[in-house]
Amino acid sequence: MNDSYPYDPDLHESGTPAAAGRCSYHDDRPDRGACTGEAVVSFEDADGRWQAGCTAALEQLVENGAIAPLGQGA
Ligand SMILES: [Zn+2]
Repeated sequence: MNDSYPYDPDLHESGTPAAAGRCSYHDDRPDRGACTGEAVVSFEDADGRWQAGCTAALEQLVENGAIAPLGQGA
């Protein structure tokens, strides 16, 4: 399980949707369901790349055990 962090644009590569405050979790994969839009969490995915997630993404990722609940990381 990866840690999660309050969304921080500085963690994301400039020019990416995540750096612009968008949810890269849904931007990459629209089949993951409805996106609530604004990024609230930053996390590293299974490949070690920084991703940003909206509240819906955060909920799903925590439920799947992919990332720790926000605020319980390192
Ligand atoms: Zn989203």
